Amino acid sequence: MNTQTAERSPNIIPTADGDVVVPGELLGLANSSRLEHNHATPYVRKGDRCSTCRYTEVRLFRDGATYVLVTLGMTIIPGEQIISRIRFLTSPFEVVEVLTVRKPGREPFLPKSAALTLAQAADLDEGIADAYVNRAVV
Ligand SMILES: [Zn+2]
Repeated sequence: MNTQTAERSPNIIPTADGDVVVPGELLGLANSSRLEHNHATPYVRKGDRCSTCRYTEVRLFRDGATYVLVTLGMTIIPGEQIISRIRFLTSPFEVVEVLTVRKPGREPFLPKSAALTLAQAADLDEGIADAYVNRAVV
């Protein structure tokens, strides 16, 4: 798992419609990408998974009293579009809740990249630290 982004500012968010710049100070950033492909073809086949070809990334910023939460579905596959979601939230508990995955028949959980982003942010923001430590899910 990488915790660093490219050289460019993490505030520059890739979207299907081009780059968007979000305000705020970076509190945490993590993604689920891996360094090596798990296939011999240039890109993973449709329906298969490869965390080098497609991965999720979470970025959390603080802009005054607002948290800017960015979730990205990244892809390097030509013809596929990056899926970006930018949310402006005021409650640290809401940040944790938005990052929590709920699936039928499963216990709610925080994906690794979300948990790592929150752990980084907990060092820099007391509200996130409280919400992360006292979260209801693992
Ligand atoms: Zn791949």
